[in-house]
Amino acid sequence: MQRYFTDATLTVGAHATLNSTVEHHAVTVLRMQVDDQLEVADAQGHAFVTTITKTAPLTVRVERPIPQSHELPVAVTIVCGISKGQKAELIVQKATELGVRQVIFVNTQWATARWLPDRAAKKVARLQQVAQSAAEQSHRDRVPQVSFVPLLDAVLHMEADAKVVAYEESAKAGEHAQLIQTLRQQPRSLIAVFGPEGGLAPAEVSNLNDVGFVNVGLGPRILRTETAPWYLLAAISTYTELQEEQSDRVNS
Ligand code: SAH
Repeated sequence: MQRYFTDATLTVGAHATLNSTVEHHAVTVLRMQVDDQLEVADAQGHAFVTTITKTAPLTVRVERPIPQSHELPVAVTIVCGISKGQKAELIVQKATELGVRQVIFVNTQWATARWLPDRAAKKVARLQQVAQSAAEQSHRDRVPQVSFVPLLDAVLHMEADAKVVAYEESAKAGEHAQLIQTLRQQPRSLIAVFGPEGGLAPAEVSNLNDVGFVNVGLGPRILRTETAPWYLLAAISTYTELQEEQSDRVNS
């Protein structure tokens, strides 16, 4: 069933009007009609089965909640150095599919590209749109939030149960335990910093370490700047969402 998002908070039995972008996609592109059903996830991250009662403006009746969550049990924020070209879009799209909660882009010392604050707003708006489409497609309950900060300093005091830096030099030195040890603590939120193609400068890493960020290796291979956050998210999903035994959830 097609899934969309609304900024409203939904309750069973109530009606909700969906925005014009959703209306265009559902009614004009997919040619949905009155009595067709669609899933809508609301501002609280709760998803519902709904039935279309009117197509202009697109209005639905909220039928029943969808109890199963599609969100990663760890609220993951990824902080990514800026890269050239379309990498930001790729990062946002795939990280959304993999369950990220928040994506922050940041200018770093060894980056080959830089976003100027006045142009960043437009890029962020476009990336937020990418996150929205990817969240619909992957049946997320929440649309990840995308933002930009000009300096890594802004990240130093962000709160999270666990804070890590994906550091290629740690990986090169054989570090392979920190990520698993971090996840074993069962953090409910985690923030992870990733360098751009040029990597992170030692001073940046030591500033992060000073405020409690732990260096983690993501395996013995050096990953591209866009691959590293995907690895982390997939690893967190594997650790927290997959298990050897078949659970009832899968069978029902
Ligand atoms: N130019 C650097 C690599 C940068 S890779 C070099 O050749 O050493 C871009 C970013 O991805 C890194 O800054 C780091 O945050 C992350 N990364 C890539 N591979 C990694 C690994 N095996 N372990 C931890 N982080 C990694």
